[in-house]
Amino acid sequence: MQDFSLNGSVAVVDFSLDGSVAVVTGSARGIGKAIAFTLARAGAKVALVDMNKEAVEASAKEIEEACGVECVPFVADLSSEEQIEPLFSSILEKFSQIDILVNNAGITRDNLLIRMKDSDWQKVIDVNLKSVFLCTRAVFKSMMKQRHGKIINIASIVGLMGNAGQANYCASKAGVIGFSKAVAREGAARSINVNVIAPGFIATDMTENLPESAKQSMLAQTPLGRMGKAQDVANAVLFFASPAADFLTGQVLCVDGGLAM
Ligand code: NAP
Repeated sequence: MQDFSLNGSVAVVDFSLDGSVAVVTGSARGIGKAIAFTLARAGAKVALVDMNKEAVEASAKEIEEACGVECVPFVADLSSEEQIEPLFSSILEKFSQIDILVNNAGITRDNLLIRMKDSDWQKVIDVNLKSVFLCTRAVFKSMMKQRHGKIINIASIVGLMGNAGQANYCASKAGVIGFSKAVAREGAARSINVNVIAPGFIATDMTENLPESAKQSMLAQTPLGRMGKAQDVANAVLFFASPAADFLTGQVLCVDGGLAM
């Protein structure tokens, strides 16, 4: 519970997630790990899902020790249809409920359109978009039954603006936005809120290897004049996951230092 006093009138904003269970995909490192940390710090038990066994186990252990809430690693390739139902059955068996799903796992396979291979198109669509469909469908029934749920999908500002050399990635992220709005309408009557965060240029392994010229160009277009931190995105996820955002659904929040405005 956070207490903001404004000129004598007191607004009480509730960011506590005590007693909630959150699933965060792609949480072994980068933005997903910061999200898992932030939700755990707010009191949620967290299921961390990633392909990298050692890394996800280490992240879950680190977060559990730091936050004092149960954090359990799960290993899965989210682009593989056969792995999704068993994954969510195991999570439900462990925690009995899922209150928050953060679809964060994502990849890039950049190239100009005329050089883009079919396999690079398909891989990005499978990891970035199809996995969001599969994971959301897997939790939706139990969220409908419990009559609440928060689904937060991590897209990108390039899903709104486009970016040369990323036709596959931009299509996947624009797809995530359209998907989220459709599902927000389907879940609304059962108090399932579905929202999107569209990060701008965030310092992680994903952006580390970009050419220096691309980094400088992104920075020059960012009014706040810096790269975002994984924590900047995690803070927005906490907002959408918390009771403070109960009246928001179908929204796209750009966490981008003003880049896409
Ligand atoms: P990252 O550092 O590359 O981390 C991505 C994580 O997702 C890794 O732990 C990776 O596991 C995992 N992952 C990838 N494919 C997976 C799969 N098929 N199944 C399970 N896990 C998988 O990326 P990030 O920068 O934190 O990005 C997180 C999200 O934010 C992505 O959706 C990305 O598109 C989005 N985003 C990032 C930026 C940015 O500037 N960084 C901007 C806009 C949007 P491994 O360790 O096994 O590879």
